[in-house]
Amino acid sequence: MSDYVGKLMADVKAKNPSEPEFHQAVQEVAESLVLVLDRHPEYRSARILERIIEPERVILFRVPWMDDQGDVQVNRGFRIEMNSAIGPYKGGLRFHPSVNLGILKFLAFEQVFKNSLTTLPMGGGKGGSDFDPKGKSDNEVMRFCQSFMSELFRHIGPDTDVPAGDIGVGGREIGFLFGMYRKLRNEFTGVLTGKGLHWGGSLIRPEATGYGAVYFAAEMLKTRGEELKGKACLVSGSGNVAQYTAEKLLQLGAKPVTLSDSGGYIYDEAGITKEKLDFVMDLKNVRRGRIKEYADKFKGAVYAPIDPKLDHNPLWAHKAQCAFPSATQNEINGKDAANLLKNGVYVVSEGANMPTTIEGVNQFLDAKILYGPGKAANAGGVATSGLEMSQNSMRLSWSREEVDQRLHGIMVNIHKNCFETAKKYGTPGNYVNGANIAGFLKVANAMMDQGLV
Ligand code: NDP
Repeated sequence: MSDYVGKLMADVKAKNPSEPEFHQAVQEVAESLVLVLDRHPEYRSARILERIIEPERVILFRVPWMDDQGDVQVNRGFRIEMNSAIGPYKGGLRFHPSVNLGILKFLAFEQVFKNSLTTLPMGGGKGGSDFDPKGKSDNEVMRFCQSFMSELFRHIGPDTDVPAGDIGVGGREIGFLFGMYRKLRNEFTGVLTGKGLHWGGSLIRPEATGYGAVYFAAEMLKTRGEELKGKACLVSGSGNVAQYTAEKLLQLGAKPVTLSDSGGYIYDEAGITKEKLDFVMDLKNVRRGRIKEYADKFKGAVYAPIDPKLDHNPLWAHKAQCAFPSATQNEINGKDAANLLKNGVYVVSEGANMPTTIEGVNQFLDAKILYGPGKAANAGGVATSGLEMSQNSMRLSWSREEVDQRLHGIMVNIHKNCFETAKKYGTPGNYVNGANIAGFLKVANAMMDQGLV
């Protein structure tokens, strides 16, 4: 670690104690940016990075709601408005019991760079709550969302801050949140993305993050004259990103063989076919069941529950060529990374945000595999949210083919930008440096132009 990064990290840790995920995200970016700050001392003297790591605004609020038994429940709501130098704050809402300030700050920080990479005019933000939608009735989820929005509506707007979904926030939650916003403001605007198709949503938005992560993997493979066809792929998670990653892999002739949830994972050596994936989509999105049922239904598939005593996740120890982590942060540790490399994986495209620990990332970089970090590989979701915002502003809807084509074009460009930037800064093939530097430059230049605000 350079002296500059060492000092920066000491300050970050002192100012933001107990936020290890935020420290991790800042450290990874800072290490890449040393290459830029050495060439451009003007960014260092304007203290651009020191400004980017400080949120423009943090909103923390109480969310009281009543459960079906008539008991009062209290959760905590957050919105981190991280950086608006290149556009309105944009980023998802996460509803999960693990949510805290540090996790949302890491996500908001990553979002700034990711949104910049999309080439669309979007700043970075993130929000959510420690509310757990799992096991709650639709009415409970609705009451929670209404209470959450009864505070959040003051801080957001189509030209200010435009939230979307993330873990635990899908079409159902966006619907309840949008309904309450519309009532409170008495206006129908594109204030949230991921909306239903009949009330302002965009075709392909649900698919976009997973499809985008697969397009990114295909672009990385192209640099070696290869394609996804015929490759066995490990996919984690079974939510939005995982489902559409598997769908696009199937369309491109690859073979997804795993899926998981917080209870455990399934391995299906024969491959998760379209028919089996339809079962998963119904299981997770309609019946809200557990992935374990996959192994009960399909012979030959095996289910392994999560064993908290293990120091690694056995999902990552199966033979394959590609891995698509699509569940949550730090789901691939150093041991998992070693297992992946040992078992033949040489393409990792991150659908989830920061799913790999720094130790794991360093192993991928040392092994010179095709490693696409989340802020580049999963940027298709927010890019398509940007396309939803454009359609809302123009009050028209593009066809499925048109949105998918634009998404594909954006992913090809993000890949090209990361690839070329990594080369320009003397680290060819290092998509981590490419994504961090390319994402940073656009925001940094906007901040320089706009003065000390
Ligand atoms: P969903 O809520 O739809 O699905 C999340 C999946 O991951 C579920 O299968 C869930 O299992 C599993 N999971 C969540 N937390 C954990 C955990 N702590 N341990 C093990 N498994 C876990 O979320 P998304 O698919 O939308 O998001 C997945 C990842 O992709 C996140 O990192 C998110 O930030 C990222 N992402 C999402 C985007 C989007 O457009 N939705 C855009 C860019 C990135 P269970 O059901 O048991 O909780």
